[in-house]
Amino acid sequence: MQVKILEHTPNPEKLVAAAAKRCYSDVPTYEIMDNLTDEQIKKLLTKLVNMGHESPLEHASFTFGIDGVSRALSHQLVRHRIASYSQKSQRYVSEGNFDYVVPEVIKNSKSISLELFKSAMQESQEAYDVLVESLIFDGLSEKEAYENARYVLPNACTTSIVVTMNIRILLHFFSKRCCNRAQWEIREMANEMLSQCRQVAPILFKNAGAPCVSGECPEGSMSCQEGESCKGM
Ligand SMILES: Cc1cc2nc3c(=O)[nH]c(=O)nc-3n(C[C@H](O)[C@H](O)[C@H](O)COP(=O)(O)OP(=O)(O)OC[C@H]3O[C@@H](n4cnc5c(N)ncnc54)[C@H](O)[C@@H]3O)c2cc1C
Repeated sequence: MQVKILEHTPNPEKLVAAAAKRCYSDVPTYEIMDNLTDEQIKKLLTKLVNMGHESPLEHASFTFGIDGVSRALSHQLVRHRIASYSQKSQRYVSEGNFDYVVPEVIKNSKSISLELFKSAMQESQEAYDVLVESLIFDGLSEKEAYENARYVLPNACTTSIVVTMNIRILLHFFSKRCCNRAQWEIREMANEMLSQCRQVAPILFKNAGAPCVSGECPEGSMSCQEGESCKGM
């Protein structure tokens, strides 16, 4: 898995602080932005987060390039609707020689052969390749062959996706996907995204992550009961 911030709003903490201060000041907005000191930014952002005044967080966004994750993960990711996505198309790009993610539990299992998993991947690849070739032989275009042959591809097949989220929704995303209840692969990705966001905006992302890291676990009977392990990043 490769996760990297491609771009982010310049000076995101200063911008969010200026947007928050805009609400309570009568000086022109550019003056607010120009005159904010680091100390004022820290004070404003801390107040903002404590008050739950979240809309100023929407002015700053982060764009991530994500490669080598499974289609199982990307299906979970795109359920987060308040975001923008651009994903490698299986209609336009061939999956001949596709790569795949092997879950650790399968790699380490004593009872299930890793070979079984690998041979299932191999069978999918072979079926895909034969289907593409046959459909093209039947007169279909490459795109038509790819988009129909892909129905035999597994969830493990890797994909690449560009994701943009604003800070308000990133905090929500991290609260769901850094939690132990999220599946290991998307949790690993979310933890890496958070770690990189913290380097850019340490105040805003200080308490981000699974809710139990900064307060009570909201999962009730579904709680992982492990608390501390959510802080594992
Ligand atoms: C541990 C875990 C297990 C899951 N298991 C399942 C499962 O078994 N089956 C399944 O289908 N999904 C499952 N999901 C996905 C989950 O139901 C959400 O679809 C996903 O987490 C996206 O969350 P969201 O809707 O809050 O995010 P977003 O779509 O980004 O929305 C953010 C917030 O905006 C508001 N919002 C967005 N759209 C609307 C709307 N149309 N109406 C009102 N408010 C809106 C809501 O407040 C929402 O919380 C699971 C998620 C997690 C974290």
